[in-house]
This record gives sequence, C-alpha cells and structure tokens, in this order.
Amino acid sequence: MWALTTSPLPKASQVPFSHFIALAKLAHMYGFRLAREWALACLYTLITSDYSPLRHAPSELFVRLLHLALRCSDARIAVVVQSMWSDRIHIGQLPAGPAIVFAEEYDFRLLLVHAYYAQMLRMVPGRALGKLPVADDSGLSPSQKTHILEGYYSLLVYWRHLRDNPLDIPLSESSTCSSHDMCVAAWKDRWTYTAEYPIPFPSVDILRRLRFMKTSLVEDRTLQSCMSSRCRNAALGALVKKTHEIGDNMFHHFDL
Ligand SMILES: [Zn+2]
Repeated sequence: MWALTTSPLPKASQVPFSHFIALAKLAHMYGFRLAREWALACLYTLITSDYSPLRHAPSELFVRLLHLALRCSDARIAVVVQSMWSDRIHIGQLPAGPAIVFAEEYDFRLLLVHAYYAQMLRMVPGRALGKLPVADDSGLSPSQKTHILEGYYSLLVYWRHLRDNPLDIPLSESSTCSSHDMCVAAWKDRWTYTAEYPIPFPSVDILRRLRFMKTSLVEDRTLQSCMSSRCRNAALGALVKKTHEIGDNMFHHFDL
C-alpha cells in the first residue's frame, strides 16, 4: 500500500515484479487511478523488456496477468501476455493444457487456437499419418479433445489439397510475361518437389511446412533460372499470403 499512497510514485526499480500485479489490482479496487495506471505501465514495460520474467515464468503467472488485464481492461498487456504464452507453448517450454482451459473459459481466442495447435502436434505420433491417439496426459475434457481431433483431420485434408494443387501465379492485368508457360511449369514442378520433400515434422504442422517451402523455393536454382523475376516474386508472395491466411483462419479448422 505504501507504493499506492506515496507521492511522487516510486520508481519501477524500487518495487519487485511480483508485487506489481497485486499493486495494480489493489489500486484498481480502491480507485487510485494514477497508481493503477503507473502499476500497469510498469508491468507492461517489464514484460516487454529483454529481461521479461515471462521468458521463464510458469503458466500460473500468465494466468494472473491475464486476469489482471481483464479486470483493468488493459488490452496491451492482454495481447503481449497471450503472445508470449503462445510462444512458450510452441517451443515446448510450457504445457498447452492450462492455456486451453483458461482461454476457453475467458474467450481468449488467439491464445486458444495457438494452444490447440500446439497440443495437436504433441499428440501426433511422430511422422506417421495414422490415427491421432485420443489418450494423452493433457487433462483436457472430451469436448476439448474433440476440437483437437477436428483440427487434426481438417488440417490434414487441407494440407493434402495444397500439396497436390500448387498455388496459381498471380498476374496483374497490366503485366506481361513472354515465357509464362515455362514459369508455370517450373513453379508446379518445384512446388510438388518441396511439398513432398521428407522433413522431420508431421505434415499436419501446415504452418511450419509452408515456411519450409518458402525458404526452399526462395533458394531454388530452377525457379531462379526458369521463371521471370516478376512471376517468381508473385508466386513466392502468394505462398507467404497463403501462410498468413491459414494462420489467421486457424480457428475454423478447430471448429472454434
Ligand atoms: Zn511468367
């Protein structure tokens, strides 16, 4: 309470991070507007710094911060915390289960879809494309497991469609290409080659698969020599755009 009533407000370095959440909560509860804004601003600065405690924090701290963001209607903190929690889940540092349970209860859709995607990948048996095992140690409800199964099969079908149907090369009305048949032939050939290239992660990890294809196709010598630079750039741009579209619409695959 000292920090809430003192004037001027103490420097952020004078207050341990673990106290900031309680301070912001108390200031909000008792109507200390300036202290509330100060505590929230300090929290935002700390969690977005190079020394952010969220880089090593357990799931419980993410939950506390999102509860605070909800209580104080602080969208900036909510976005950063969801993003960092998703990142930690994707790289395997935190379990997806607590994020799924929390995000579903409080309707954090961005966090929810990231957590479902990560949990789905953890349940995929290596490179195999067989049945997704239902039994797992995530502690998820039958309904939540159903969402994961829906995502798995939807993404699997979608990936197979993409693999077998190379993206069209976008052509503007004003642009001309004197050797477009060769552009199209080269693009389709290299698309199929990279789409079927054996890689050590499951096909259902469609975002990682498309990023791998982008990296490979940028370096591809055949495309460099057989496509006009305009068509090559347009085709690679279409791949990047498609990857973003799939990421932005991922919740459809999980029926959310
Ligand atoms: Zn062309």
